[in-house]
Formats: sequence, structure tokens, C-alpha cells
Amino acid sequence: MRIDHIAIAVNNLDEAIGNYQRILKVDRLEVEIVHNEKVRVAMLELADTRIELMEPTSEDSPIKKFLVDRGEGIHHIAITADDIEKDISRATANGMKILGGLRLGSYGRRITFIHPKSINGVLMEFCEAPTKGQAKSHRTNSTGH
Ligand code: ZN
Repeated sequence: MRIDHIAIAVNNLDEAIGNYQRILKVDRLEVEIVHNEKVRVAMLELADTRIELMEPTSEDSPIKKFLVDRGEGIHHIAITADDIEKDISRATANGMKILGGLRLGSYGRRITFIHPKSINGVLMEFCEAPTKGQAKSHRTNSTGH
């Protein structure tokens, strides 16, 4: 397992992209709308991990609620699962609360979340390892930054 990305909730995605690009060496940047999660996300590729900036696309987005309740900041840490189904079974067998089951996240990768109450206050995402060609074929929207 390794850290796939660290996600940060932001009010204004374009402004946030500018801020992060000024301080980080970003190898690649992709912007995408994830309709399932009602967010517009920017993935900033660094040398060995990524930063995901997330902006709500609607008033009933879970990220909107997060921003209202807690303001901008770290929203979740994502771990690349070795075998997502096995890793989820292990988590549930150990009494972890899974939020919402397996679903499609950015790049069409299957993801799920572990409730922060189960793991010391951190919302943790499990995401399956990307497969070749997946990023392109499943991307729903890109502004081409
Ligand atoms: Zn994420």
C-alpha cells in the first residue's frame, strides 16, 4: 500500500490550483468533474504522490457540507489498495465502518471510504490501483490545464 493522494476541500478550485502550483512542482494537472460525488477535482501529480483539490459542484455536495462545517482543509487521505475487495473485507472484519460501499471515483477507479470514527478521526479512502488507459477512457471532463 502507499499514499495515492491527499485530498483538500477548497471553496474555489481555480484559485486553489494557482496557490498550489506556485509552491509545488506539479508534473501534471488534470481537472475533472466526478458527478457521483458532486465535486470538481484537480489532481496535481507530484513526483511520487498526488494532491487532490476538491470543490463542490452543488449545494448538496458532501464537500459543501464539509466546507460549511469545518472550512477549507484536509478532507481525506487515499491509500492505493492492493486488492480493493480484499482490503475492504479485512477492514469490515476488523469492525471498521465503510461509507457507502464501492463506487467509481476520479479516473473511473473504484473507491470507498472508511469512516473517521473507525480510524482516529481521519477519513480514509481506499482506491484501486490505476490500470493503463483507464484514466483517458473514463474521464468525463477536462479543462486541459
Ligand atoms: Zn480522493
